[in-house]
Formats: sequence, C-alpha cells, structure tokens
Amino acid sequence: MKPPYPTTFGLFGLPTAANNVETICAAPLIINRGADWFRSIGVEGSAGPKLVSVSGHVGRPGVYEIAPGMTLRHFLDQVCGGVIGELLAVLMGGAAGTFLLPDEIDVKLTFEDLRAAGSTFGSGAIMVFNQTADLRDLLKRLGRFFQHESCGKCFPCQLGTQRQVEILERLDAPHKDDRERLLDVGMTMTEASLCGLGHTAGIAVMSAIEKFPQLFESNGKHHD
Ligand code: SF4
Repeated sequence: MKPPYPTTFGLFGLPTAANNVETICAAPLIINRGADWFRSIGVEGSAGPKLVSVSGHVGRPGVYEIAPGMTLRHFLDQVCGGVIGELLAVLMGGAAGTFLLPDEIDVKLTFEDLRAAGSTFGSGAIMVFNQTADLRDLLKRLGRFFQHESCGKCFPCQLGTQRQVEILERLDAPHKDDRERLLDVGMTMTEASLCGLGHTAGIAVMSAIEKFPQLFESNGKHHD
C-alpha cells in the first residue's frame, strides 16, 4: 500500500530513487556529454534516445534505439524493413498497450503525440500484426499472461484477471453480454487495483473492443 513512496521511505527506510534501467543508463550520458547534447536527440518534450522492441510481421524485428519524432509509419517502413503482408494493427506498449489501426500509424513517436492518439510507448514494445494474425488468440494469450503474473494481493486484479481469461477463452462462442462483462472487469481492474499490473491488465482488451468490435461478436455461435 502506498504511501509511503520509495522517494521518502525506501531501502533501509531511507529516500530511494527507483527508476528503470533505461533512465539510469541515460544519467551518465547526460553527465558526460551535457544536457544540450541529450536534448539535441529527439524533440522538445521527448528528448533523448528511446529504446523500443519491435516484434511481429516486419522485415527486421529487434530492439532499436530511436530519436523520438519520426512517425510510426516511417519507422516501420524505413527502419524495420517494412510490414510483411497487409497491416492489420500495431499494439503499442506491449501486453498493457493499445492498438493502432493502419490509418493511425502516421502518429509521431513521441510521448505527447502517442498520448494524444490514445496510445503509449509503455514498455517500449511495438507488436506488428498483418492480416493473417488471429487477434482473438492474441487477446487470450495476453489475458493468460496477466492472470499468471497477478500476485493475488488485491481482489480486483486477482479475480479480474481470472474472469477476463474465462471470457477471452470463449470468444469464438461468447455468452450474451460478454463484451459488456469485459468492459466492466477491465474498468474495475483499472480503477480499483493496487498496482500497475492490475491497472493495465485490461487495457489491451478494452482497446480491442473499441478498435475491433467484430472480434467480440458471436460468429453465429452463441451461448446464453
Ligand atoms: S494489482 Fe498488483 S497488488 Fe493487486 S493482485 Fe495485481 S499484481 Fe497484485
């Protein structure tokens, strides 16, 4: 439970800086080369190099260090070897991220532009899917990941990730009101969980409901 936060009461009861590795790696560069050099990479508001991990249907998947500011389309086409096949969706931010549709990839890769587009760098994962991808299967896998990772300390996440998987497992033949159930579970986890895992466990599913509503329709197989 927070507070206290690590910045006031952390390791050994002392103020503690808790940052991710990417941030800590930037510190010596800024000290050695100066803030102006760091700010010269990227754009104002999203200064400095950014690590992203690209997977899926692109010519050259991998980890890239980019200067924020280029568009996602330019990045995929010119840096990652292009999309293989016809683009279906890009999942920005990985398991806890949101989907961008093919007509949304002209967004600039900056914190501000992605936020304005309802998206995020998140973990830095960029997952690219072409028309052959089975998004229902993807959502099932994401759901199972969060169910497995939930530590069980708080009920919204412990039970929410379980209920979410149960519904995702039957997407091929959904029960009546399953889409509303997923939104209800997703919002409850987002609003009421204790930590970031629960806060984000339903984000990709809720994004899929918005961007791919047909995934949650019955396909003719329907159980009440
Ligand atoms: S939200 Fe965090 S604390 Fe709560 S069960 Fe999930 S992982 Fe545990």
